[in-house]
Amino acid sequence: MSTIDNLPPLRDVINTHDLRARKSLGQNFLLDLNLTAKIARQAGDLTGCDVLEIGPGPGGLTRGLLSEGARRVLAIEKDPRCLPALAEIADAYPGRLQVIEGDALEIDPLQHLTPPIRVAANLPYNVGTELLVRWLTPKDWPPYWQSLTLMFQREVAHRIVAEPGSKAYGRLALLAQWRADAQIVLNLPPEAFTPPPKVSSAVVHLTALPQPRFPADAAVLNRVVAAAFNQRRKMLRAALKGVAPDIEDRLLAAGIQPTERAEQVSLEAFCALARAVTAA
Ligand code: SAM
Repeated sequence: MSTIDNLPPLRDVINTHDLRARKSLGQNFLLDLNLTAKIARQAGDLTGCDVLEIGPGPGGLTRGLLSEGARRVLAIEKDPRCLPALAEIADAYPGRLQVIEGDALEIDPLQHLTPPIRVAANLPYNVGTELLVRWLTPKDWPPYWQSLTLMFQREVAHRIVAEPGSKAYGRLALLAQWRADAQIVLNLPPEAFTPPPKVSSAVVHLTALPQPRFPADAAVLNRVVAAAFNQRRKMLRAALKGVAPDIEDRLLAAGIQPTERAEQVSLEAFCALARAVTAA
């Protein structure tokens, strides 16, 4: 396997540091450095950017990000077993890699980062979705990040880029597409990972829009969309009964038929509904 730097191949790193994958931490490692460099390239031009990487593990993607020219990488890793391997990478790229040990769900990375900032990660499914929702729902927009390049189970990736009328369309698609451009940029089979997971994966690249695609209050939009998709098989007048007392009028004011179902309603119409509910 070819290498992108003068560090040992990842298989040797894993053996040297005894980094047997732990299921409890969702560890499925990428060991092909050509592939990790390819993923790093999907994150855009990294020169002059700080990159926040969550879950570097033995450092395959970290090495990709650094070899592709990231100004600095801030990596947050929960598994202390990975720290010696990451320290070797930090030595090979002096001053360009900072590692924080801990849970990414509990650490605020902002004080360690200087804009422009991009985010890249190959994370366990639950943590990835939770972080994605947090990155998409800050109070102020634009957010601190320019782009997110994230590995997901393929089914979750499809939910992020889904269009109205499809089964995958729901809260994740609306949250992502309201304030960002989202695209699947790479598909990966299970064999790309060690050990291979049960399902295929995909890399999604999201670019923050300067402002939301359509005006709406974030909290109201969230509430409307959550209620609509919690009971996605019901007609909207029933699913949204608790959102506003005169919801039929609000739906009509937004140009939505009260008998429609959530999965038929476009992002633009959901934003109009959020405005109609706010105005009530
Ligand atoms: N980035 C590496 C790669 O591509 O080979 C490792 C990917 S592995 C799917 C996920 C990594 O996230 C593991 O190293 C795991 O220890 C780490 N991790 C899991 N939960 C985490 C959390 N809450 N915060 C930070 N890291 C976490």
